Order: sequence, then C-alpha cells, then structure tokens
Amino acid sequence: MIQATKVRIAPGRLLIAGQWVDGGKKFDTVNPATGEVLTEIVEACAQDVDHAVGAARKAFEDRGGPWRKMSTSERGRLIWRLADLIENHIDELAELETLDNGKPIFESRYVDMPMVIDVLRYYAGWATKIHGETVNTFETAFTYTLREPVGVVGLIIPWNFPLLLASWKLGPALACGCTVVLKPAEQTPLTTLRLGELAIEAGVPAGVLNIVTGGPETGKAMVRHPGIDKIAFTGSTSVGKEIMRGAAETLKRVTLELGGKSPNIVFADSDIDSAVKGAINGIFYGKGEVCNAGSRLFVENKIQEEFVEKLIGRAKKMQPADPLDPKTRMGAIVSQEQMQTVLGYIEAGKQEGAKLVSGGNRVSVDGGKGYFIEPTIFAGVSNEMRIAQEEIFGPVLATLSFDDPDQVIAQANQNPYGLAAAVWTRDVRKAHAVSRQLKAGTVWINTYGLMDASLPFGGYKQSGFGRELGRHAIAHYTELKTVWLNLG
Ligand code: NAD
Repeated sequence: MIQATKVRIAPGRLLIAGQWVDGGKKFDTVNPATGEVLTEIVEACAQDVDHAVGAARKAFEDRGGPWRKMSTSERGRLIWRLADLIENHIDELAELETLDNGKPIFESRYVDMPMVIDVLRYYAGWATKIHGETVNTFETAFTYTLREPVGVVGLIIPWNFPLLLASWKLGPALACGCTVVLKPAEQTPLTTLRLGELAIEAGVPAGVLNIVTGGPETGKAMVRHPGIDKIAFTGSTSVGKEIMRGAAETLKRVTLELGGKSPNIVFADSDIDSAVKGAINGIFYGKGEVCNAGSRLFVENKIQEEFVEKLIGRAKKMQPADPLDPKTRMGAIVSQEQMQTVLGYIEAGKQEGAKLVSGGNRVSVDGGKGYFIEPTIFAGVSNEMRIAQEEIFGPVLATLSFDDPDQVIAQANQNPYGLAAAVWTRDVRKAHAVSRQLKAGTVWINTYGLMDASLPFGGYKQSGFGRELGRHAIAHYTELKTVWLNLG
C-alpha cells in the first residue's frame, strides 16, 4: 500500500509583503504516486505579480526600511537562521517534497534537503564578503568600484528539485541584498510555500521574499514586468529562449540553467563495476528527471556486451515503489503529462531501431494509479536517433558504443546541449585530455553527479549561461559601479 502522509498540507496562498493572501483562480497539485489531489494552489494573475513586485521594490528601495538598514553580518545571520529552521523541519520538508514530486524519500531527506541547508549557509557566509576595490588611475583622482545588489529579482524554478533549485538562487540573491519574487513550478509548489512560512519565522522583513504560485502565465507576467531587474530561470531550453526574448523588451539581466543530454563515456581501462554503478546512478537517480542526467552512455566496444549485461542486472533491481518507503530508489514520474512524454520517447526509440534491453513499461505500484515507469535501457543506439539527441527527462538510458577517443569526443559534442559529461578511465592523462575537449559546464572523472555549494554549475551551448553556486553566482546578483572622485 502507498503510505498515507503524516504532514499537514494547507491550501496554498501567495506571500506578498509579508502577508499570506488568497487569489481568484485555483489549480490542484497532485501526488504523482497516487494520482490524488494534495491541495489547491492559487494561480497568481498579472495583478498579483504586480503586487508582489511592488512589495519587493518597496522593500528594496526604502532606505529607512529594515532591509536596507540591515548590516551585511545581520543579513548573513538571517540567512543562517533560515537554514537552521529548515534543518529543524527537515523531515517534514522532505516528506512534502516527495509527496509533491514523487521522488524517493531517501533522496529528498538525505540529498535535497541537506544541500538546501548547505547552500544557504554557504551564501550566509558570502553576505559579509562582497565588495568592490580601489583602483589606482591618476594622482588627481580617487577611483573605486562598488558591488551593488542588482535589485528586484524574479526566480523561476522547475519541478525536479523544487526547494533545492530555489535555494541555489535565493541564497545568493539575499546575500547580495536583492529582494525576491519567487515562483515555484506549478507541479511542485508545496515546499516553497512552507519555506515562505519559515522565512517569516526567521525574521526576513516583509517584502524581501514574495512567493507567487502559478504556471507559464504567472512566469510570463514576471518576465514582462518592468519592476523586475533580473530573471534567474531554471527549466527547459525552449522556455529559456522564450524568457530571453521576453526579457529583451526591458533589457532585464537573465541567467538561464537549461536542459541537457549529458554524455557519460566509459573506456575499457576503467574500473568496470564502479562505472556501471555510476552509469546507473547517472541516469536513474531522480527518476532521470535531472538536468545533468547521464542519458547518453558511450561504452568502448571491447567491453560493451559485458557492460550492458551488468547494467541490466542493476536496473532490474531498481523497480519503482512507494516513494515514501525509505528503501525505494525509483519513485513516480512527476506528472501524467511527463509520463506520457517519456513513454512516447520509449516508443520512438523502438521505432528508430534501437534495441530495448530492459524495462520500457508503465507499471502499477500496489495496484494504484500512480505514474511509474520501469528503469529503461536501450542498446545499439546511434547518435542521430531522437533518444540520443533530445532530452527525455525520465528513466531512459541510450547506450552507444565507440572504438577510439577522437570518435567518442566528436559524438559527445554533437548535441545542442552542453551541461555536463563524465569520463571513466584509469589513465589520468586520457581523463584530463578528454575532459578538456568536452563542451560541458561540468565534467566528472570516475564519478557522476557530485555537487557542492562552493563549485559553479551551469551550461555551455543551449544548456544556458551564467553559473550558479560558488562565488561565481555573486556576480549575477550584483551590478558593478565605478566611482571617480576628482582630487585636482
Ligand atoms: P519548464 O521550462 O516547462 O518550466 C520551468 C518553470 O518555468 C516553471 O516554473 C514554469 O511554470 C515556468 N514557465 C513555463 N513557461 C514559461 C514562460 N513562457 N515564461 C516564464 N515562465 C515559464 O521546465 P520543467 O518542465 O518544469 O523542468 C524541466 C526542465 O528543466 C528540463 O529541461 C531540465 O533539463 C531543466 N532543468 C535544468 C536545470 C539546470 O540547472 N540546468 C536544473 C533542473 C532542470
């Protein structure tokens, strides 16, 4: 039986100027493991977005107000306090995330939430370390730079790591002194709404963090709004392009973290069992709904057969199960729509002549109506097939083979995306040589998917631009001002 939930799930409201307010239109958020409605959420209209932006603008510009008067060390302590509150409610938040997204509780409790806390604490430390510099130019001038907050930022988040990806943006935004209008994905708003309550409890001043729930129309209203100075977006490449076009109208600053089709390259001289584990983890972690999923697996011909056999063995042990069960490693696909998209790609793979060697079907867990798909592996894939070129965003692995390094590097780069890649080999020189030639924002050697708050993450090519995490994110939430003082 799919377990019943213990957490309280109230109907969603909007957080504007420190107050929870209701809205006109509503939509349901659904538990993908059961197909049942969890609660009702407000669909913020353009007027709601306008109110949220107004509140954020007022909090940002009010020179006598609490946000502008707050010292940077107080700001750091505030972010730290928010991280503490999240830690105090870690079980509740993890459960909410799993209910809304379908990801295994093991992932939300032991990966997502700990990283949310880490990221906030990392940026709490940055609040006191953002500064300009003095520059020597002429005897008759005093010249220096200031790093100032960019202003009101609009944060638009996808459904795959709802609270985690919100923290990647919220941490640096607050550390830099910006004010925020935050929009979670319509499929997964629950943890963001709870975050709003915890932010109030932590003492975040009214108007500094505003939360608007809703779908594409709410997002478009944010992109159009002249009161927003910057949009930080994570989501699909097609919506990223739309946002860039929309933001051009008011010349908003934009950072885009978009899709991927990351190559995972295994040489015959690698530690094969580790590489098998890495390949499985690389594609099936997070049900494959991971922007940096290792969805294109290139295996050197010599070991191809043995490797695929081992993959199948592991995949068969990863059957979908109740996401709330701590032993589950394969949860429910986020929505019925996404499940249909993934099943459509499985069909396309078969029609294009790829060999389906494992999985490929929707399955019922405990006789329920949840959106579960078996871990699926295709072998004999060629790089031109749709399942090798397009982002599926589900538990589907395309396995290709190669004979020499130049061939595999060329194929790995023959894709519009460039988010991440991995190389498995015991030859250190080969590992570095290949890493340098891969067009990707992150390259893992003999591992897959590791992340840290201190290391930048982002894409080459159509996987977006700008970097999140690390000190590099600070540049994207600040403007640089040059000041000249005439001493003559
Ligand atoms: P999506 O692009 O459909 O939606 C993302 C967010 O944008 C949602 O909040 C949505 O409501 C909003 N939105 C949709 N249309 C909009 C518009 N026209 N204007 C403004 N906002 C709009 O993406 P998704 O399906 O939620 O997420 C999956 C995608 O996100 C995948 O392509 C995945 O690779 C990508 N992703 C990338 C990263 C990364 O860091 N690069 C991380 C996670 C997910």
